[in-house]
Amino acid sequence: MRSTGDVLAALRKLMANLPNSQGSINAYIIPSEDAHQSEYLAKRDERRAFITGFDGSAGTAVVTENEALLWTDGRYYQQASKQMDTNWTLMRDGQPTTPTIDAWLAKTLKPGSKVGVDANLIPTRAWNPLQSSLKSAGCLLLTISPNLIDLIWKDQPVAPRNPIIPLSVEYAGRSVAEKLVAMREKMTDKRASVVVVSALDEIAWFLNLRGSDIDYNPVFFSYLLVTLDDVYFFVDESKLSSAVNDHFRANKVELKIRPYGDIKEALKSLAETCENRVWISLGSNYALSALIPEEKRFHEITPINLMKAVKNEVEAAGMRQCHIRDGVALCQYFAWLERCIKERRSVDEISGASQLEKFRSVQDKFMGLSFTTISASGPNGSIMHYHPLPETNRPITDKEMYLCDSGAQFLDGTTDVTRTLHFGTPTEEEITAFTHVLKGQIALGTAIFPRKVKGQFLDTIARKALWDVGLDYGHGTGHGIGHFLNVHEGPMGIGIRLMPDDPGLEENMFLSNEPGYYKDEHFGIRIEDIVQVIPTSIGDNFNGRGALCFRTITMCPIQTKLINVKLLTDKERNSLNRYHQTVWETLSPLLKKANDAETLAWLERETQPI
Ligand code: ZN
Ligand code: ZN
Repeated sequence: MRSTGDVLAALRKLMANLPNSQGSINAYIIPSEDAHQSEYLAKRDERRAFITGFDGSAGTAVVTENEALLWTDGRYYQQASKQMDTNWTLMRDGQPTTPTIDAWLAKTLKPGSKVGVDANLIPTRAWNPLQSSLKSAGCLLLTISPNLIDLIWKDQPVAPRNPIIPLSVEYAGRSVAEKLVAMREKMTDKRASVVVVSALDEIAWFLNLRGSDIDYNPVFFSYLLVTLDDVYFFVDESKLSSAVNDHFRANKVELKIRPYGDIKEALKSLAETCENRVWISLGSNYALSALIPEEKRFHEITPINLMKAVKNEVEAAGMRQCHIRDGVALCQYFAWLERCIKERRSVDEISGASQLEKFRSVQDKFMGLSFTTISASGPNGSIMHYHPLPETNRPITDKEMYLCDSGAQFLDGTTDVTRTLHFGTPTEEEITAFTHVLKGQIALGTAIFPRKVKGQFLDTIARKALWDVGLDYGHGTGHGIGHFLNVHEGPMGIGIRLMPDDPGLEENMFLSNEPGYYKDEHFGIRIEDIVQVIPTSIGDNFNGRGALCFRTITMCPIQTKLINVKLLTDKERNSLNRYHQTVWETLSPLLKKANDAETLAWLERETQPI
């Protein structure tokens, strides 16, 4: 564990005497995000991890003159308390007794105190309520520039400059020109002269481009300003190859390319001179929003966000296809793992994950992993977002449960799948818990619901079977997933918390279905599939509103050894058997073609009806 005493002392010194004669502040907020509100970060943007020592994907740090606190959610309680030293206090976000950051600051700070934050790193959605709650406590929220962490981070990595590649219409399904027409129609509808696009996956999707500036996320650092006449693309020009220029010519789109750092000046002048409103998402950083005259700000998720979430037919077909290839690799891995364990060959979480990557990487259209593989044996499985490190690496054996959550990027889609297995004899407790997780997973996977219902209302369908026996899990049930893009994407989701911009579920949205159960220090269970929202018909179809259901596109057996069949209803049993039959029918021809007799035999056994 790295000691944070020195960096905290350096930060507090700066807080007491801010650069550029900005005076002093009593508290400094360090958000997780970068200037684009990315969930996964480039190394240079891991400021919150640098100051706290905790490297999970979600959390906000607050440093005052005497205290250092980190707020993070249920996925990360264990990891954060393990990774942080005694300088830090863990604030368990989401627990009824934990105050929010706004409430804590308002209660703790004396009236007249000043709180600072880098406005580039805080979404407008978080800035507005924070500012008003501090104001009512007699405190002030200030934007501090430059970023204080950057000033104390001696070996901060440089900004990535990886090349950008075009994604052909063969995979993207819609040309940039078509997307632009659709975008401008929406702009006219909403009386917007300019749309500000700062989310990196939105820019990549809109321009049919992909990059690799952030590990696992095929995005590149840039901004986009779209007007009714022009498209301004703010990007480091050295990233653009001739292939990208050809791509735009072929797409019949002319972009005005500007240096990445010019966004603020350009936005300010466009916002001042444009006739109508400036469309900017509340998810965009406050530094951008603040450049727009208040009466011109139009806060709504960008039209791109919605267009991207509802996959077109080409994207949807690609998603299904890549899940089949991904399923082959996953089955090969589990069959291989079973043999290693049977033959007493040593295999551990790290070597297992790298073998899985090998199986994936030879699949057609493979572009990389979609996140760090969670390869977790025994008690490590109870750490929800665990990934193995040399110091935590455990052997995978027939003595304990093994949880594997992994995914890949393909040219035609993105995958994310979790399976939990036991290679020996599971305990009754493990079987009971697994069966209840599965019941919830089937309940959601087979649910029928009204068109446009918000994902939040589906969450308890997946939890009910667990709640019936007093069990639960501390994470969401489902997230959107990109098409050869970020593994987590909005605006919809299935969770206890309301997604602020959830437009309701629509045909051809893709989400995960991933309930779980975690027994601290013992084991973790999660079953995760990706599902496609498809139309169905029932009764009067909700008074004509339309009925939807899910189609599971993940292709990998669920270990029946871990199921207590007596706890399943006939409907649940039939549903699982049908799924296993589909998996067998889909994957077996490919395994036969690959002459992979070992995996074929494994798959045949694992898909037998129960
Ligand atoms: Zn996953
Ligand atoms: Zn997931």
